[in-house]
Amino acid sequence: MSTTFDYDLVVIGAGSGGVRAARTAAGYGAKVAIVERQYLGGTCVNVGCVPKKLFVYASHYHEDFADARGFGWQVNDAQFDWTTLRENKNREIERLNGIYKNLLENAGVTLYEGEASLADAHTVRIVSDNGATQILSADKILIATGGKPFVPDFPGSEHVITSNEAFYLDSLPQKMVIVGGGYIAVEFAGIFTGLGVEVTQFYRRDLFLRGFEKDLREKLAVEMPKHGIDLRFNTDIASIEQSDAGYCVTTKTGEKLNTDLVMYATGRVPLVDELGLANTAVTINERGYIAVNDVFQTTEPSVFALGDVTGGTELTPVATAEAMVFSSYYYGDQSQTIDYDNIPSAVFSQPNLATVGLSEERARERFGDADVAVFKSSFRHLKHTLSGRDEQTFMKLVVQRSSDKVVGAHMLGSEAGEIIQGIAVAIRAGATKAVFDTTIGIHPTAAEEFVTLREEA
Ligand code: NDP
Repeated sequence: MSTTFDYDLVVIGAGSGGVRAARTAAGYGAKVAIVERQYLGGTCVNVGCVPKKLFVYASHYHEDFADARGFGWQVNDAQFDWTTLRENKNREIERLNGIYKNLLENAGVTLYEGEASLADAHTVRIVSDNGATQILSADKILIATGGKPFVPDFPGSEHVITSNEAFYLDSLPQKMVIVGGGYIAVEFAGIFTGLGVEVTQFYRRDLFLRGFEKDLREKLAVEMPKHGIDLRFNTDIASIEQSDAGYCVTTKTGEKLNTDLVMYATGRVPLVDELGLANTAVTINERGYIAVNDVFQTTEPSVFALGDVTGGTELTPVATAEAMVFSSYYYGDQSQTIDYDNIPSAVFSQPNLATVGLSEERARERFGDADVAVFKSSFRHLKHTLSGRDEQTFMKLVVQRSSDKVVGAHMLGSEAGEIIQGIAVAIRAGATKAVFDTTIGIHPTAAEEFVTLREEA
């Protein structure tokens, strides 16, 4: 390809999006380098999806041991050791880091370690830990730096941790406060509770998981306290003071609470500050993310961006899909496409919540009340008839009446993510309610409920 530059493509950031873009572009024959300052695999592999899910598994044993009694098992003397979990998790992450390195090497991508910034529209400067500087010229530069946790500024904010640190705690606190009402806050509330920590979760408005299907939000708010989580809505922190015993948290209504640890999960912000964007014509949009067109091009024609740093749907599978579209568009046959509708997602809360398509509220806004039919079911999972656990599984389908298409599917309950992933295929394929109704169930499963929902709510 290009002969005037060192590389056809230099990717900044070896996370989910960057690695996939580098590998696939190299696969199409481009000469590619990737620069990473911290860890291969980015947030998802190191301080996100993967270690989080491992912790979710760990936290579930707590209730699994309790549930086992109803099935005749006596599990005596079950002990949990945080250090074992943390170190086993660290080993697995290191293994994955190695796999990412091999994937890049095998694809013919050159890896540079250090802090990258743009010196101009075709030049990347890399400063390594020892201060050495390297300069790479590139026909195209792709920014895939992702984001980092956001903590608001308030008196005592320096005392809080974020999810980044939660993965590496020296020891587990006895009590902790988790602030936020999004994916991370809800997931970590479940994780730490399951591991034996007394968790209080604060959310600033009246119902968490804003943007999700309302029934799911309301039902999760009923289920989480059953696991021992002290869930407090309309509560926010005004200040935090260090005390002999830990921290004293004062809420905006003046309530005081002593705790050992405070974790903020109040969203994420894009990593753009140290990129040297001022040396180029790249612009930042009003939300603080890198502005791109529908083929990931910034306002500087040779500079591109994808994944979380562009502020779309901040999920790993979206970043990797974007990366494949990018490579195919600029280096391949342009055969790859991405459809931002009907992106499924799961919150690994306890119980899990998963969703695809339109919530009932959104469907009513889009189609009007008369054109929306809703089917729902709430039931006790077969397993819990013997475990005795007081937990409701909930499923809901949202249907456009005029087309009979299922436009949304939502679930709260065990393995919701696994089940909704399958339903997402059907919804993308345009399945109608009649197709759901004539699909034979797998008995006895919870998932079969989705094909036996007959009564409109
Ligand atoms: P989210 O954007 O999901 O949620 C942020 C939460 O923090 C909201 O409840 C928000 O409240 C609250 N908040 C924001 N600012 C403040 C503030 N100043 N004071 C108090 N509360 C505040 O962010 P997360 O950090 O949970 O997750 C980041 C992203 O990571 C997610 O958007 C998601 O895309 C991704 N992720 C995905 C996961 C998955 O797929 N399972 C798991 C974890 C993360 P309000 O509603 O009022 O705005």
